Amino acid sequence: MTVKVRFAPSPTGPLHIGGARSALFNYLFAENQGGTFILRIEDTDLERSSRESEESIIAALRWLGISWNEGIEVGGENGPYRQTERLDTYREYTDKLLQEGHAYLCYCTEEELEQERQELIARGETPRYLGKCRNLTAEQRQAYEAEGRKPVVRFKVPAGEQIVINDLVRGKVVFDSDGIGDYIIVKSDGIPTYNFAVVIDDVLMGITHVIRGEEHLSNTPRQVLIYQALGMKAPEFAHISLILNNEGRKMSKRDGDTSVIDYYNKGYLPQAVVNFIALLGWSPAGEQEFFTMEELKKEFSLERVSKSPAVFDLNKLNYINSHYLKQTPAEELVDLAWPFLKEQGLFLKDELTEADREWITGMLEAVREKINNLSEIKDFLHYFTGTEAEEPNEEAKAVLTGETVPAVLDLFRQKVSAALNLDIAEGKKILKEIGKELGLKGKDVFMPVRIALTGQMHGPDLDRIIALLGKENIEARLEQTFNIIK
Ligand code: GLU
Repeated sequence: MTVKVRFAPSPTGPLHIGGARSALFNYLFAENQGGTFILRIEDTDLERSSRESEESIIAALRWLGISWNEGIEVGGENGPYRQTERLDTYREYTDKLLQEGHAYLCYCTEEELEQERQELIARGETPRYLGKCRNLTAEQRQAYEAEGRKPVVRFKVPAGEQIVINDLVRGKVVFDSDGIGDYIIVKSDGIPTYNFAVVIDDVLMGITHVIRGEEHLSNTPRQVLIYQALGMKAPEFAHISLILNNEGRKMSKRDGDTSVIDYYNKGYLPQAVVNFIALLGWSPAGEQEFFTMEELKKEFSLERVSKSPAVFDLNKLNYINSHYLKQTPAEELVDLAWPFLKEQGLFLKDELTEADREWITGMLEAVREKINNLSEIKDFLHYFTGTEAEEPNEEAKAVLTGETVPAVLDLFRQKVSAALNLDIAEGKKILKEIGKELGLKGKDVFMPVRIALTGQMHGPDLDRIIALLGKENIEARLEQTFNIIK
C-alpha cells in the first residue's frame, strides 16, 4: 500500500504550533514511507475562512520547509483542493445518503433545538438531536417548506452500535453510537459540515492515514459512520496528543506565542522550530536532540509518537534555537539579522555594503552566544552603536571617581583619535599600551573604559565594542563621561 496523507487546515487564522506539528508529522511520515502528502484547504466555515489566512498558512509551511506533492498550489489529479470548490461532489454523496435512507432532511428551528437541548440537560442527559424529523411524511415536509423553512441534512445514526477505532497512537478506542445524536452533514445553505466533507475528500483523494490532533478524536466515530454508510473503507487514524503549557493546561493564546509566524517574527530559525515541534510528541530511538529535516525523515515513525500530552517548553525551543544560531554561517546570519536591525532603525537601505556586512558580522560575533533569537539583538545594540551610552548606576559611577580614571580616559581618547584603523586588534593594543604607559593593572584600564563607553560594568568583549562603536561614537560617549566626572 502506498501511503497517502494530508494536512487539511481550516483557513480561519494563522498556522498554530499544533497545526504545524500535524503538518510536519504527516510530511515526515509520507517522506519516510515514500508516500504522497496532500495539502487541502477546509474552508466550509464561510464566515471564518479567508484567503488571507490560507496564504499565511501556506507561507508558514513553506518557511518551515514543509512541502507537499499534491494539493493547493501544486495541483494533482484529485483536485480541486479547496472544499468550497468541491460542492458538486459533496452534493452527489448527499443525494446518495438521502436516497439510501442514511440521511434525512430536518426542518427544526433554532428554538425547537434549544428547547430539546434544555430538556435533555434538565434530565441529566447528553444534549443531542433525538431525531424528530427522522420520519417526516411528504406532507409534513411540504408544510414546512411552505412555511419557508430551509432544511439541513442530518445523518441517521444507527442505534446500539459500537464504533471501534484502532488508533495508531491511542490504541483501541470505543464509542457508543447511542451517545451521538443525528448530526448535520449539510447546512441549510447547502454547505457541507466538516465531518461530512472530510470523509468524502479523504475517500476520493485516496488517503490511507489520517494523522491529526487529538481534539478530532471525538469527531472520528461520526466520520466512521459515514464511511460505513457509503460502504467505503475508512483510513487508519493516528490522533496525536494535545500540546500543554507549562502548567499542564491546553496551550492557548494566553500562553503567548502560539502561531508559527510569531516565531518567525521573533527571529527563530525554521530548522530550530521544526526540530522543536518534531519533539512535541515524537521521540527518537536514541539520545540525539538535534535533527535536520533529512534526519527526521529517516527517523520518524508513528510507533514512536506518544499518547501522553506534549509540553510546550519555551526554554527548550530557546536552547535549540541557540544551537542553530551558532551553527549558521556568518554570511547567512547577516542576512537573517538585517531585518531585525532595520526594525531598530539601522541599515535602512536596499543593499548592504561590504563595510555594513563587516560591522554586522562583528556585532553578531559579539552577541551570538548570548541570544536566544534574532530579535534579542536589539537588547545589545546600545553597546555597539549610537552616540550615547546607557546611564551608569551608582556602583559604576563610583568606579569613575577613581584617581587614575581621568588619565586613563584621556590617553584612551588620544590613542583612539590617532588610530588609523580602529579594529579589534587595534582596540586590544590601545588598552594594553595604556596599562603599560600609566603603570596600571588591566582592570584599572578596562573598567573605566568599559563604563565610559557603555555605562555598564559588564557586557560583550571590550575590544569588539571599541571596534564596532568607531571613533565618532567613542568620542561622543567619552565626552558624556567627562561631563559626569568633572
Ligand atoms: N480542518 C480541520 C482542522 O483544521 C482538519 C481536521 C482533520 O485533519 O481532519 O482542524
